[in-house]
Amino acid sequence: MHYICSICKSGLDEDHIIICEGCDRGFHSNCHDPVVKLETLNEDEPWNCKSCQLEAQL
Ligand SMILES: [Zn+2]
Ligand SMILES: [Zn+2]
Repeated sequence: MHYICSICKSGLDEDHIIICEGCDRGFHSNCHDPVVKLETLNEDEPWNCKSCQLEAQL
């Protein structure tokens, strides 16, 4: 599967693109607000983008 960043619409640096579990969109760790530190991510744990995290809080 090839993902592009939903912020900058680029598929470059795919190694740094993280996929949101909730909306299945890709984000560069640096394009997402707030910036996501890749070293804090656990590959076994699903990650949710900011908007999905906000929705989960409602
Ligand atoms: Zn990007
Ligand atoms: Zn999301």
